[in-house]
Amino acid sequence: MASEKEAALAAVADPPDAPTIFDKILKKEIPSTAVYEDDMVYAFRDICPQAPTHILIIPKVKDGLSQLSKAEERHREILGHLMYTAKIIAKQEGLEDGFRLVINDGPSGCQSVYHLHVHLLGGRQMNWPPG
Ligand code: AMP
Repeated sequence: MASEKEAALAAVADPPDAPTIFDKILKKEIPSTAVYEDDMVYAFRDICPQAPTHILIIPKVKDGLSQLSKAEERHREILGHLMYTAKIIAKQEGLEDGFRLVINDGPSGCQSVYHLHVHLLGGRQMNWPPG
């Protein structure tokens, strides 16, 4: 996850629909550690983990979903699929005691990559409120 400054810079760096580093990951142009894949989503380990388990789940087709606040009616299926996939991966990762999902949206949400993604965090006690 990004610092507030990095997130602010990311928000103004590119047009919202510009390709991101996640497109390169999907095209295997840069490496990632896959944990799950199906026809709609890809999940891989975060490069800068904030918990013992930190996985990013992304739609394979961005279709305008640079961030959750851009979601439209047509995205209902992929949004539900991302959540259900998180549950499958949490089980696969042995997170029986609980886990946390995070979606950062926009500069105030500290989003740094403008391709919708769900953070799945687990393997330690989470705190509330989050930072
Ligand atoms: P966010 O700040 O919510 O937009 O989250 C973006 C996440 O992408 C951060 O947690 C980064 O650590 C992660 N990230 C950036 N580049 C890579 C990469 N090449 N491989 C895996 N995770 C990455």
